[in-house]
Amino acid sequence: MSCLEVSGLGHRYSRDVILEHIDLCVPEGAIYAFLGPNGAGKTTTLRLILGLLTVQVGRICVFGQRLDTDRIAILAKVGSMIEGPSSYDHLSARDNLEVSRRIHRCPASRIDEVLKLVGLRGTGSKKVRQFSLGMKQRLAIGTALLHSPKLLVLDEPTNGLDADGMIEMRHLLAGLNREHGTTILISSHLLAEVGKLATHVGVISGGRMVFEGTIDQLGSRAPPTVRLSTSDDPRAATILAAAGIESQFVHGKIVVPAMSADSVADVNRQLVESGIGVHDIGIARRDLESLYTELIGVRA
Ligand code: ATP
Repeated sequence: MSCLEVSGLGHRYSRDVILEHIDLCVPEGAIYAFLGPNGAGKTTTLRLILGLLTVQVGRICVFGQRLDTDRIAILAKVGSMIEGPSSYDHLSARDNLEVSRRIHRCPASRIDEVLKLVGLRGTGSKKVRQFSLGMKQRLAIGTALLHSPKLLVLDEPTNGLDADGMIEMRHLLAGLNREHGTTILISSHLLAEVGKLATHVGVISGGRMVFEGTIDQLGSRAPPTVRLSTSDDPRAATILAAAGIESQFVHGKIVVPAMSADSVADVNRQLVESGIGVHDIGIARRDLESLYTELIGVRA
């Protein structure tokens, strides 16, 4: 079942068209990475999904309910952090959570649970102004989690974090998804930040969706190849062609379509038996980052 379905979403800021016919589907239990370069329209889309902007064109359904008619019921099941963490700087993590707990009317016991979940139990009376950015991000996520939402929407939660902070964030989100079944929609402009975590990917560029699918579907857009370097590449290419294998030269290597491990061994044997030294032979998989940069129209 899908947790979130967006269809035909468009948006303008005065005369500027920002989003054009966005379709998006987040399956229940997914970690969906919503990727795109700066200014692509990610935050605008997320603000529309959360009812922070009025939908001009299109339809948004969350848990099978329509946002335009069931907004309150939907938002009771959604937690979010949009455009950076915001907390009361002069209060501790616990006191910040207490403020939100009263708004959400959650049981008092939920505060300790959330502090533990986001790894802030040891911060005691330390004020948020003394927190690192990573701690502030975790507190903001904790606040979003207080009412045990089924869907968590996070806008660039790794922005500004150092490598350790990003790893911590990934562990936190993976744990939430695994242990609590929380569906997570997370935006980022860097695939590397969320690619390891995500089960599904949506790519937006210039206000249009340019890809949506699973991580494996993204990978399958560029099938693996076999790359070789030999003592005599032109002659090797002729031998391959005689065996019915088309080859190309890319970055000083012979590149042929993917084949089974046994076929790779056969090719190797044929070349060696023809007196050609095979310096290097192996299956090469294109990395997701270069696929992503191609999708958003940036040269890798
Ligand atoms: P970033 O990663 O930089 O936050 P984004 O993908 O989240 O980018 P948006 O913040 O949705 O992109 O912005 C999309 C476009 O809409 C940008 O061109 C931005 O300048 C424009 N925009 C955003 N908010 C407004 C606004 N309130 N009024 C007018 N234009 C806006």
